[in-house]
Amino acid sequence: RGRGGGAGPVPPRWGPGKAAMAAVRARTVLLTGSNRGIGLELVKQLLGAPRPPAWIFATCRDPEGPRAQELRDLASKHPNLILVKLGPLGGRHGFQTLFSSTADVANPSAITDAAKIVEGKLNGTGLNLLINNAGIYTPASSLESVDAEEMIRTYKTNAVGPMLMAQAFLPLLKKAAQESTEEGLSCSKAAIINISTIMGSIDKTPESFFKPVISYRCSKAALNMLTKCQALTYGEAGILCVALHPGWVKTDMGSQEADLTVDTSVRGLLSVLPTLSEKHSGTLLNWEGKAIPW
Ligand code: NDP
Repeated sequence: RGRGGGAGPVPPRWGPGKAAMAAVRARTVLLTGSNRGIGLELVKQLLGAPRPPAWIFATCRDPEGPRAQELRDLASKHPNLILVKLGPLGGRHGFQTLFSSTADVANPSAITDAAKIVEGKLNGTGLNLLINNAGIYTPASSLESVDAEEMIRTYKTNAVGPMLMAQAFLPLLKKAAQESTEEGLSCSKAAIINISTIMGSIDKTPESFFKPVISYRCSKAALNMLTKCQALTYGEAGILCVALHPGWVKTDMGSQEADLTVDTSVRGLLSVLPTLSEKHSGTLLNWEGKAIPW
């Protein structure tokens, strides 16, 4: 128990009533890493919400590749789901795919290109919710084995990527905050949610250090610091910034040994989002909304 980012005992399943009551009200949402795992489940549950967003921009590296088949199937059924490619150029299919230039979540030009494409689609309105979900994890990364390349690769994806995403989408997030008549900060107004992990908590490290995963821990500790800095900077513009730990989840990353199904984790995350306000900005919370010390 607790390996791979797990946080103790399995929580009770959310009842359907609770999930429905606490649905997130963001009109427009953009998320990264949406072709599989937690990202794909976020897309599914957002589409199935009582009041789904008007637009869901689902970014992934290769929307035309074999690993994005489920996302393509969803996009062909849901016109409010727009696939945005943060990868090499390609052709069009029978669903809406918007293409940016090259490379991945840590590539500045790919991200700014994607932001321009999303801006065009939003047609003068803002982006309410940015979920930085894409991430990588190298299980065998001890202090003996980890090298510079592995540290840098993980840091780029898990910390630099979310930083660049927030920079590029900041004008659209600010626009959403300005358009809103809501007081205070919320996910329905304007928010950056960084999907982090308890493994990035310095305070909690001794409890899970039997699995060192140095590159992952350091990159997520950096993401946690980024979240605090973003909260202190973007709060004035009306943007909420929170880091969320999804639990130890049965995905390619979490493995099938994990505590939580992806359904349970994402139901929890989506129930936490509408409860967030200025008092949570700059903090790390788990999928049940419980605070985790830095
Ligand atoms: P998966 O490995 O199942 O999926 C990872 C996703 O991130 C994929 O869509 C992948 O795309 C994408 N991705 C990885 N690297 C890049 C990159 N450089 N550029 C663009 N996209 C990239 O992971 P999970 O769904 O389990 O994890 C999602 C998030 O949750 C991560 O940030 C992770 O750290 C966090 N988390 C997960 C836990 C777990 O137990 N599963 C525990 C705690 C936190 P592609 O298919 O192209 O590789």
